[in-house]
Amino acid sequence: MTMKSETNRSQTTVETACALCGSGGSVLFEGRDLLHGVDGSFGVSECGECGFAFTSPRPTEKRLGDYYPAEYSPHEPRIADESGVRERVKRAVLGAFLGYPVESRLPVPLLWPAYMAFRWNSKNIFYVPWHGQGRILDVGCGSGRWLWRLSKAGWRTAGLDISRAAAETAQETYGVEVKVGTYPHRHYPDGSFDVVTLWNSLEHMWDPLGVLKSCAAVLAGGGLLYMSVPNFASFGSRYFRENWFPLDLPRHLNHFTPGTLAAAAGASGFEVSQTTALRRTSALRKSARYARSTGDARLAVRVMTTRLGAGIMSRLFATRGRCELMVACCRKVRDDLPGT
Ligand SMILES: [Zn+2]
Repeated sequence: MTMKSETNRSQTTVETACALCGSGGSVLFEGRDLLHGVDGSFGVSECGECGFAFTSPRPTEKRLGDYYPAEYSPHEPRIADESGVRERVKRAVLGAFLGYPVESRLPVPLLWPAYMAFRWNSKNIFYVPWHGQGRILDVGCGSGRWLWRLSKAGWRTAGLDISRAAAETAQETYGVEVKVGTYPHRHYPDGSFDVVTLWNSLEHMWDPLGVLKSCAAVLAGGGLLYMSVPNFASFGSRYFRENWFPLDLPRHLNHFTPGTLAAAAGASGFEVSQTTALRRTSALRKSARYARSTGDARLAVRVMTTRLGAGIMSRLFATRGRCELMVACCRKVRDDLPGT
């Protein structure tokens, strides 16, 4: 889908066509790497045909690695700090409400408060409901911390990540099997998983449709795909534009809305069965700080630099479902697509 190299920045950036339909796009606005401050200016373009937004001009595939410095946080090892009692209660909740194969002597009515507390923590959305035989693949798994938690809760886990260092951490720190690879690629046999997850990773992929088709191929019939991506149609995105923290140029190449995410899923053999909006107060606060640092003095920007202000605004946005992140649960409905 690469169209041409920019002549004045040859070999550093390229313009690309829409990854969903192959049509051309026009630049909505430009932005820079605000997180790590690596040089370069990039465009956020919108497809004239299907409305998909994507980073173009973007770094060439060869240069993209320059924008993932060693301290890039998803690849850092983190040691979990679960106490024994909390862990036991959480497992009981997973067994009683999400179908996990765990035995608990605690009666279900007593677990309701714990379940409400569990739901309150939005990170627990990564504990996906039990499905099939409990075989799960996490694509873009980083250092494997979530896979480790899932394996403790009964899943048979496998991971795939582009970073060799992250894969080594996963094996050494967490004892989780992670393969190193690029996407899309066949790393596991067809039909060998019940669930595939793409947590905050599809937005990074050069070929998102190819990745989704690979996910469909490794899933068994009726298998489920869970993915979380920033919501480009969120109020925060529309308000902060190039200063929106989850835009994360140029690491994020794909900027999905609920509509374009459903279109990408549909073109890859999936059907979206549920989409959940997730609030991210800290993302709004960081966006407001970026905006302030460029001299943006709008009242709402100043309000959102405070924890209280960002919290209130994110709850307001949530009432319309236009939060910073969205999580989609998709069911595999076809596996006869060309290119899989
Ligand atoms: Zn398009």
